[in-house]
Amino acid sequence: MKPYRRERGVLVMKFGGTSVAGAEQMMQVARIVADAVGEGDRVLVVVSAMSGVTDALLAACRLAVLGDGEGASGAISAVEARHRAVIDALGQPGDLAFEIERECADVRAVLASVSVLQEITPRGMDRVAAAGELMSSRILAALLDGQGGGTRWVDARRVLVTDDRFGAAVPVGSTQGAVAREIQPALDDGRVAVVGGFVGATEAGITTTLGRGGSDYSAAIFGAALDAREIQIWTDVDGMLTADPRVVPDAQPVGRLSFDEASELAYFGAKVLHPSTILPAVEKNIPVRILNTLRPGSPGSTITATPAGEGRPLTAIACKRNVTVVEVTSTRMLLAHGFLRRVFEVFELHATSVDVVTTSEVSISMTLDDDRRIESIERDLAGFAAVQVARGMAIVSAVGDNLRLDPSTAVGVIAALGRLPLRMVSQAASRRNVTVVLSDADVPAAMSRLHDEFFAAAGAAR
Ligand code: ADP
Ligand code: ASP
Ligand code: MG
Repeated sequence: MKPYRRERGVLVMKFGGTSVAGAEQMMQVARIVADAVGEGDRVLVVVSAMSGVTDALLAACRLAVLGDGEGASGAISAVEARHRAVIDALGQPGDLAFEIERECADVRAVLASVSVLQEITPRGMDRVAAAGELMSSRILAALLDGQGGGTRWVDARRVLVTDDRFGAAVPVGSTQGAVAREIQPALDDGRVAVVGGFVGATEAGITTTLGRGGSDYSAAIFGAALDAREIQIWTDVDGMLTADPRVVPDAQPVGRLSFDEASELAYFGAKVLHPSTILPAVEKNIPVRILNTLRPGSPGSTITATPAGEGRPLTAIACKRNVTVVEVTSTRMLLAHGFLRRVFEVFELHATSVDVVTTSEVSISMTLDDDRRIESIERDLAGFAAVQVARGMAIVSAVGDNLRLDPSTAVGVIAALGRLPLRMVSQAASRRNVTVVLSDADVPAAMSRLHDEFFAAAGAAR
């Protein structure tokens, strides 16, 4: 690697699971990082677990809860073997193999006790889930170190300080000081710092995680703490696309979008960005770019405070599949004073958040992403209202800053959906989205009709 030149500032580069899925992919990441260092940036690399590893770790937890200690231990051995194979392919030295072995031994010990108790706490689950990022980050750090120029591996648990909401931890103020202590000096020395995403720890040092897909959020938290000049999210697509490519195969990259648009798209299901990612970036006004690891030359998407303009009616459409709709009807004729408060208190009590809300004279409809506590919620609501639950529903959301400027676009969105039955329709105060709730089975039709209507002609020009 070429020596760094200080003037360019700090660049945070986050690589997702598919970007570090194996030895070849890691080598590609190393090339991309070397290029950035060569350009004179001081680089913090944030890395996800190798693809599929977090799922495998959580599956091992489930086996242990069923009392299948052997199965759980076997699952960890498979994870270990996968990491060892990468280390071997990269020709990395024995120390690293030892670290991987030790990490897996710790996880096995947790799972052994889980399988005896046949119960796992959220805290135990976070300890297991964190192993993926702890291992991938060590491997990548060793690989980058081998290229010369100096690297520092940072244990995420020493720098991302969170509260103790295991599984959905939120960073606390002392993260700033920890980053200044543990990461900044390495960058100032011209070294590349490497840290696992998704993982943090409480003030007392207990391992936490930020929730699925949380490495993007880690990158933004570190970016804000370091006053980075840019936060880059490197993934397996060409940027934020006009629609989920798994549903609309001809979706096109969106070149520029605003923080507000990106937040709404992420919130309504654009998985390429964790919904909390934008917040720290907004606070420090740091541009976020989404880039493709396999095609580093492609322009990707740039997300900034400024609306992109360009006269496009919509920026992109997103969908959140398999949500549950809860309809609560007041047993009185009208929504009585205090009714909404009582309804939301029930959701609060069961720590369940609602996404889309619509009301009528006598009823309120809500969507839930996480319906694990639905039975208790239903029971509590039934004390003062009639409740109906519909599973297998989906949210489709059309997003764009320009929706505020031209009200006819909202009409066009509904018209494009034709006769598909809509369960809920909403346009929030931001007037940046038009959102409908429909049957999950209708998602492919709804998304492709909207995409044809608003994006087909625009094509690559976007
Ligand atoms: P990573 O492992 O890099 O974090 P993710 O799987 O979390 O990657 O996110 C990237 C995936 O998000 C893409 O492969 C794509 O299938 C999905 N996706 C959903 N909606 C969008 C969208 N609007 N634009 C881009 N990708 C999207
Ligand atoms: N490895 C974690 C997950 O699979 C976090 C991430 O990839 O962002 O959810
Ligand atoms: Mg992701």
